[in-house]
Order: sequence, then C-alpha cells, then structure tokens
Amino acid sequence: MNLIIAEKNLSAARIAQILAGRERVAQKKDGPISVYTFGDTAVVGLKGHVVEVDFVEGYADWRSEERTPRSLIEAPTTKVPTEKKIISTIQRQAKQASRVIIATDFDTEGELIGKETFDLVRQVNKTVPILRARFSAITPQEITTAFTSPTELDFALAAAGEARQVIDLVWGASLTRFISLAAKRGGKNILSVGRVQSPTLAMIVDREKEIEEFSPQKYWLLSLTTEKAGQVFTARHEVARFDDRALAEAAKARTRPPLRVKEVKEGEKVERPPPPFDTTGFLVAAGRLGFSAPNAMRVAEDLYMNGFISYPRTDNTVYPPSLNLDGVLRTLEPTEFGELALWVRGHRRPSPVRGKKTSTDHPPIHPTGAGRREVLGDERWKIYELVVRRFLATLSPDSRWSTVKALLDAGGEPYAATGARLAEPGWRKVYSYSSAEDHLLPPLAAGEVLPLKEVLLEEKETQAPPRYTQSRLIQEMERLGLGTKSTRHEVIAKLLQRRYVEGNPLRPTLVGRAVIESLEKHAATITQPGMTSRLEANMQEIKQKKQTREDVVTESRQMLHQVFDQLESHGEEIGKEIMGRTDEERTIGPCPACGGDLRIRQMGPGGQFIGCSRYPECSFNLNLPSPQWGKAIKTSEVCEEHGLCHVRLIRKGARPWEIGCPLCSHISSNREALLLIPHISEEILGRLAAKHIYTVTDLSRMSPESLSAVASIPLDDAKQLLAGASDVLVLLRRRSELRKFVRAHLPPKRGRSQSGITKILYSHGINDIRGLAAADPSLLTGAGMKESEAELLQHEARALCGDRALREAGVPAASLKKYRDASITSPEDFCFLHPAYLSAKTGLSLETVYRHVEMVCKTMGVKPPARISKEALKEGRAGLLSLPGMDEGLLEKLYRAGIVSPETLRKAEGPALAAATGIPVEKVRQLIAASLARRGKA
Ligand SMILES: [Zn+2]
Ligand SMILES: [Zn+2]
Repeated sequence: MNLIIAEKNLSAARIAQILAGRERVAQKKDGPISVYTFGDTAVVGLKGHVVEVDFVEGYADWRSEERTPRSLIEAPTTKVPTEKKIISTIQRQAKQASRVIIATDFDTEGELIGKETFDLVRQVNKTVPILRARFSAITPQEITTAFTSPTELDFALAAAGEARQVIDLVWGASLTRFISLAAKRGGKNILSVGRVQSPTLAMIVDREKEIEEFSPQKYWLLSLTTEKAGQVFTARHEVARFDDRALAEAAKARTRPPLRVKEVKEGEKVERPPPPFDTTGFLVAAGRLGFSAPNAMRVAEDLYMNGFISYPRTDNTVYPPSLNLDGVLRTLEPTEFGELALWVRGHRRPSPVRGKKTSTDHPPIHPTGAGRREVLGDERWKIYELVVRRFLATLSPDSRWSTVKALLDAGGEPYAATGARLAEPGWRKVYSYSSAEDHLLPPLAAGEVLPLKEVLLEEKETQAPPRYTQSRLIQEMERLGLGTKSTRHEVIAKLLQRRYVEGNPLRPTLVGRAVIESLEKHAATITQPGMTSRLEANMQEIKQKKQTREDVVTESRQMLHQVFDQLESHGEEIGKEIMGRTDEERTIGPCPACGGDLRIRQMGPGGQFIGCSRYPECSFNLNLPSPQWGKAIKTSEVCEEHGLCHVRLIRKGARPWEIGCPLCSHISSNREALLLIPHISEEILGRLAAKHIYTVTDLSRMSPESLSAVASIPLDDAKQLLAGASDVLVLLRRRSELRKFVRAHLPPKRGRSQSGITKILYSHGINDIRGLAAADPSLLTGAGMKESEAELLQHEARALCGDRALREAGVPAASLKKYRDASITSPEDFCFLHPAYLSAKTGLSLETVYRHVEMVCKTMGVKPPARISKEALKEGRAGLLSLPGMDEGLLEKLYRAGIVSPETLRKAEGPALAAATGIPVEKVRQLIAASLARRGKA
C-alpha cells in the first residue's frame, strides 16, 4: 500500500482527488481523522506540526530554587506529541505501508514537519522506503510531476528548522521567565520576551520615541500661478525648499512681470512594471487594500490549498525557467480576466520583470487556477484578483509618459512648470491599483509672455517619521533579517495579542515600552537585530551543510549565557523599572481621599476594583463589575469633576462596556440606597460627598460625633441617621440575596430583565426570600412571570426558608438531608407530623427524631408532642399490624396522623382520620371497628 502524508487535511483531499484521476476517492474516518483512499493508495493530512519541542519534565515550576530561569538554557529538550489522534492514524497506516511519500509544504517549515513525520513512521516501521514529493502549487500538473518522480527528504533543511525550534524555545522560555519573575508578573500577565519578538517590538518603541522627540522644522515653498488659453497652472520656484524665511520673502518680492517662457523641454518617462510577488511584496500590496498581514496570509493559504494560487510563502521574485508562463495565461482565459490575459499574450514584453531576490525553493506567487467571483466570495476574490493582476503586470510592456517641462523667468527669478501624459498605459492597463493621472500643460513656446496671476509663499513644517503599518514593519523586519517569510506576520499578531502594541499603524502600549526600555538599558543584545540575524545566517549554513545543528544551538546557548550575565546582575532594578512604568498603565488619577494614585487592581480571576496606592494607610476603593463582564482598562477621557480617567470593560467578542468615570458611576449607583435612609437630605448628602462618603456602608462606619460634625447636624439627629443606615444595610443585604435568588431560579428571557423583576418586587414591599415565599402569586405574575414559573419560584423559596428555619433550630445538616429526601421540609412538618412517621420515613432513630421535633417546636412556640417509648411503639405497631385488613402501606398513612397503636386508633374519629390520612372512610371505619372488637375480646 502507498501512504501519502500531506500537511493539512484539505491538501490531502485535493492531492487524493488529483492523483485518483477518474477513479473515485473514498473518504474513510479513523476516529475524527479522514483517510482518503483510491486504488492501493491512502492519503492522510496532518495539522501542520503534530509534535512540539518542550523541556523534559521537571522544569515547569517557575519558582524552583535549583531550576532557575538560567538553568533553562542548558535544559534538555524533547518532542511531545500535540495531535495524538493524527499520530495514531498515521502510525496505524504506516505499519501496513509498502511505500510512504511525504507531501508537506515545500519550505523549511514543511521539511521539518516532514522530518517529524519521518520519525513517527520509523517508530513503527523500520524498513519502509520514505520518499518526498515537492510542489509549489496544488494543481494537476505540479502534483502529477511531483509524485511521478519523488525524491529524498532534505535532512539538512529540516535540521535548520529544528535548530530554530530549539533556540526559540530556549530564548523565549528563559528570558520570559526571568523578566516576569523580576517584575512579579504571573498567570495571564506574564511578560513574554522572544528572540524575534523583542527586536521587532524595539523597532516600534524606538520609532515612537523618535516621533515624540521630533521637533518640526519650518520651511517655505514659493510658487506662482499663470494662465494660457483659459487653463490655469502652477509653476514652482527652482529653489525647491527655502529654509530661511527672509530669503524666501526676498525671492517673492523680486518675482515680477513680465513672466516669460525661457525654454520648453519635451521628454519621455518609462515606468517598468512592479516585480513578481514574494511574500513581503504581496503583504505590502494586500495591506494597501486594507488587509492586515495575518489576514492576508490566511486568505492566501486558503487560495493555495484550493489550487487557485501558488504557495504564498516565498522569498523569490524571479520566475524560474521551469514555470510555464503561457500555461498560466491560458488558465486565466475562462475567468473575467480573459480579455486582459489575451491582451497580455499579444503584447508580451521580451522577458518578464525580474525582482532582486532569486531563490530556488518556490516561484513567486502566481495564479494556478481559474477563480470565479461568485465561488470565492468577496475577501478571497480580492486577494485572488490582486495575484492575477500582479502576474499579468509582470508580463506586460512598460508604461510610457510624455513629459513637458517649461522653464519660466519672472523678474530674474527662475520657475518651472511640469506636465505629464500617459502615452502608452502598458502594464497600468492590467494593474489598476495605483492611480495614474494625467497632468497636462497647455501648449507653450519659448519667448512667450504669460500673465503673472498670483505669487504664493507657503509655510510648511517637516513631519515626524510615520508609525509602522503592519506591512511596512514586515518589510523592515525582512531588511534586518528578523524572522522568516513564514513567521513575520505571526510575530506581529503575537505582539498585538499580548497587548505590547495596539492599532494600525502600530503604537507601543506602556507595558511594551516598559519592557523594551528596561531591556535596552540592561541587556541591549536582546533588543538588537544583530544577534538574531547572526543566528539566521547560521541556519542558512546548516541548510548548506557548512555547520551542524548542534554547533549552531551551542553557539546560541553561549550567547544567551552572556545575556544572562548582564541580566542577573540587574534583576532587581529591571523589576522595579518595569513595575514602575506599568503602574502608569493602571493609574487612573488622584485618590479623592488622600491624593495618592487610584489604580485599577486585578486580583486573579475573582475580582477587580479600583484602590488607592497608599493602601493600607488609605482604604479608599471603588467597585468594578466582575471580570466576567470584561477586563477593566483606562481610557484617555478624563472626568472634569474628579480628574479620573474613564474606565472601559473589554471582553473578547463583545462590545466594550463604558463605565465612564468610576467615581461618578460609584456615586450614582449608591445614591438610591442612601436616599432610603429616613430623614436624610440632599444637603446632608452633599456634605458627606465632600468628605468622600458615598455609600451607606461608608456612612454606617462613622461615629455619631464625626457624622454630626461632617453633616453639621445635632448629635441626636446623627444617632438617628446611623440607626436608619444600619436598617438600610440589613435591607440591602436581604434585597441582594433576593436578587441573587431570582437570578439563579428564573431563566433570562427576551424582553424581561431579572433586575426589572426584582425592582417591581421591591416596590410591592417584597425585600427578601421569605417575603417572596409568602407573597400573593398575582404579584409575581404581575411582575412578568408565567404562573408555572411563579409557582416553582415560590416553592423553591419556601423550601429554602424551611431549610434555614430548621438549621437555625439546630437540626444538623446530615439529618436535614435525610428529612429533605423524605420530602419533610418545613418546620410545620416537624410540629404536626407524628415523630413515629418521621422516624419511619427517614430511618433516623425515634430518640433522635424526638430531639429534633422538640427543638423545632421550641423555636416555633408550639407544644411538643408527648414522647412514647421505643418499646411502646414496637408493641403498638405489632398490635396494629395484627388487625385484619391492615398492611405496611396503611400503617405509614396512619403514622402520619399520629395513630401509633390500637388504643390511639380506637379514640379516632372516622371522617377526620380519613381526611388526615387519605384512606377511604369505609376502610377507616372497618379498621376502627376491628380495633374496638379486639379490645372487647381482651
Ligand atoms: Zn487614598
Ligand atoms: Zn467623575
């Protein structure tokens, strides 16, 4: 059997389809994994890497004394399976295979995935031949060629990939751990540092500093306007830029009529088409269409896997001779670019445009299949169209402009006007992304005199360098040798995800800046591209077999030791600097109580609030909604009244929740509660607020004396107010419990808010669960509940109240559970059901039940039943059971009504007992009669 292993499930399916030709491909499932079979061949897809490099066990504890961050440099690494199901499918197939072909993507990463697959196959099959198929596009032609003459795996290329994996793991893990520990950050807030990531972040931070430090320089532009045959046009002074205002003004003053045409020069300008797309060029062009780098890459990969374009990760900008350009043009004929393709065939330039980079792995990105707008959908179509048009452009002739330059003289001052006309559009006909506007001058002749309409002196300022856009940053990373074509956009995505940078163009956040500035100060090597581009060069040498994997990894470990020499001697300083800087990110403004800093504090997953930096001396704090509603961050807006930054809750996939000024929000949400206190007035509230007392809790903590002083009221009034406040606190606690109860038992529904319901309940004086249990059901249905919901809610409320009363009476929790299981839930059940019944239903001893019943009766103010002894009960039970027509079922019903012996039965009244037990009257009469007869005999 032939086994083919592709990089992804989707490419496995397509490869199977192409190789099967007209034969049908069967898709079988091995667990969740698809196996595509035809004839004697099975095709399985990986999920990219199915194993990952990690440290051997024992290095997981961050705070270990022996296993310091530095110890990770020399820690042994191993490969851990990450996709166990795929691995077992592959190995099951490989055991029976007579030939294995690895068909992963054709680049370093693909070769490494191929090598990992090779090892997995060898684990279960020592002898099967393992071959490698290489292709740059999943098209019938490429696939057929690749599989007819498969080659060997390139172990040198894979070794370069492996070296990178190990080095990235060691650098990332040891440095991240060191910096996070120094800055006392853990969990989700760790500060990650990486071999490529940190120099990239440093570029963004450095650019931001350049922008901040930039001081604009003034300069002046001098121009004039004139007119010929009704067309107004502008001419610029030959000094393109005056740096001195006085000189510019003097030149302006000398500019006087007559304005004479000295010379007219005609010329031609030739524009070559842009070069073929490599990954970076493609990402830049897609960026201009509004695609972020990760998104453009995702769409391009999708198009590749579906056979529409060639492999999108490439460094090559020169079409290889093997690429059939005519074939590609023919492929486009049935598409909506058919006419353009035909035009290009008729006007082909002698040879396609060449870019600056030639490499042997993949051709530049080009179309490989005929796409249709309806099939691809908007986003994929835009990228496909871009690739098609770029390809067509690279085969098209130059575009030609006719240019005119008129040299003018005004009172001895030299001016020039220029014009251009697109004479032959050439490649611009097919590549319509940059606009090409004609800028025409009227016909002019030397010696001609023109009217001088206006002389204009404009003052300008030099501009700060712009922030990096994602695509500009990718170009810059490439120039500096940071990362590879496959990893650059991922590095940027990671920086965004860790909130080191934000926005597009990219800006560093305070944390991002703090980390880089501290590293630049103490271990600049980590932030400079030199070290990492040296490693990239080493990896090239592994590919060319000039160095081994081990040599390169060892060298990088030595470099890292040097970095740690610098870091470890400044650990404490680094921690302090980063913590100091990141505090800024959380500080929202001055504490109203003491003037310290109010900061957003996140306490694990449990909570977030705003507290004072001078805690514990100052305990001022403000509540924030729980983090499940979103993580609190500060915004740039500031409250005019309190000088505090507004706060916003952000949550993935949800719209942000604007809290606004947290103090304003705190005050307004507590106002209603304060107004519940009897005799409180707006005036008093104002005086309290001036002393930062905003809540009932704040108020209730005051002494009568200080309240009297703060609110300027007599001491007796203050005492009354405090008593009112403590009542309100109790009320609030009960209300909050009721609110939680309603929220837990009433499902949310459209058009009905749970808080709306509780508000209606408060307005009817229902302030706690007990009130809810006893409420008139019509109040509940009036508040928007269905009858069945109201019934269920009241049932639950009663059960909870009963439970509580029993617990308060002293019934232990374990027994309580037994009573509950026997549906004995309310204190009334204890007072009015016979202890014998309770004992029989729960299995608790009679003695225990009596003790519980007596406790409950006491708290209810009811007289407890007289005790009967265990023996008497036993005897009574025997007597009852001996009556004709009696059984266990009837006995339990009689117990419920307190009938525990023939004597008690004789005293009972037939109809009343029937009602209490649910036994038919006739039967009750028979039993009573039987017991009387028995007595007669005795
Ligand atoms: Zn404070
Ligand atoms: Zn405010």
